[in-house]
Amino acid sequence: MIYLDSNATTRVDPRVVEAMLPFLTEQFANPSSSYAAAKAVRVAIEQARDHVANLIHASPREVHFTSGGTEALNAVLASAARTHAGSRLIIGATEHPAIAEPAKRWLKDGGGLSIAPVDAGGRIQLDALQQLLAKGDTSLVAIMWANNETGVISPIREVVELAHAAGARVLCDAVQAVGKIPVDVQDIRVDYLALSGHKFHAPKGTGALYVSSRSRFEPWMLGGGQEDGLRSGTENVAGIVALGQASALMSEALADGSEAALSTMRDAFEATVLAACPAARINGSLQHRLPTTSSIRFTGLVAAEMLILLDQRGLCCSAGSACHSAGVHPCPTLEAMGLSAQDAASTLRFSFSRFNTTQEAATAAEQVIAVENKLRALADEAAGPVVLS
Ligand code: PLP
Repeated sequence: MIYLDSNATTRVDPRVVEAMLPFLTEQFANPSSSYAAAKAVRVAIEQARDHVANLIHASPREVHFTSGGTEALNAVLASAARTHAGSRLIIGATEHPAIAEPAKRWLKDGGGLSIAPVDAGGRIQLDALQQLLAKGDTSLVAIMWANNETGVISPIREVVELAHAAGARVLCDAVQAVGKIPVDVQDIRVDYLALSGHKFHAPKGTGALYVSSRSRFEPWMLGGGQEDGLRSGTENVAGIVALGQASALMSEALADGSEAALSTMRDAFEATVLAACPAARINGSLQHRLPTTSSIRFTGLVAAEMLILLDQRGLCCSAGSACHSAGVHPCPTLEAMGLSAQDAASTLRFSFSRFNTTQEAATAAEQVIAVENKLRALADEAAGPVVLS
């Protein structure tokens, strides 16, 4: 199998498994207990917090562990709904459902909701955002750092500057950015930021919410007062330790340039596919893109059909957003960028990680080309989309 679907989830790094194992075996004490065995567990949690804080340049006190990105994002919207009931929420047009769905509830509960459009490259249109902010009633702006479908990176610094100038706070969904590109919350001054461990080689069900010391946050998980009272519930200790270890490894990979270097593999893959498939096009800004994501549309073909044939050859990639949908629907991100429903449905996403090799990328490109050429020939013959029986 060649796995090119790391935006859906990543392989857990063996070094991460090794770090978390003791907390599933001998070191099982509840960190809230008073004896020495529990203290050792508390120390491990705080070490993990330091690693996560270091990865995003936060203070450890600003990092709160959650069950993942969805929880972190929902928690901020729930908090803002309490602290700023009835105010306006602005979200980007290409946000993940973990923002788009709670935003619908915000609207239903009586708040205002505006959608900031993106340009053809998938980036937020800053002048349109400024116009929306000029209404003067916005309490929160939720814009993603990097898009899960295209890898397009938002002008997040400018978004924060505009929002702050209008008196609004910024929530950044950095689930696809953290670990892949430098994320510095002190430099960018976002108020809230969500990250997810399973996108950078920690297990699923691990994540964190950054709340800047300048910002107010009303917890939605009430109980025993863990995580400084901001997220009650007995800690997922092994998961937290794993997230810490994965964060430490990603900090190293960002510092030594090995994460950024993955773009060489991705670019070679794209160049080979585009050279052999003249109708193929890359979606999204080439200049502002994660090093590991490739979104390619094969106009005139149906991506779902390509996916089946690629799966038969052992290549895992995705059409539509695999992390939240069992079926394949035209991708809202691509439609928001102005692609027709047909072009959006002709798009495949390939996402790389440090567990891929150059040889795998080359083999994957050959497989994509073989499948594209086969379906293209059949489509030309039938002069229309092919229906696989
Ligand atoms: N935000 C983005 C951009 C994502 O890609 C995902 C998952 O794919 C999420 C949020 C949800 O994160 P989690 O799976 O940790 O709940």
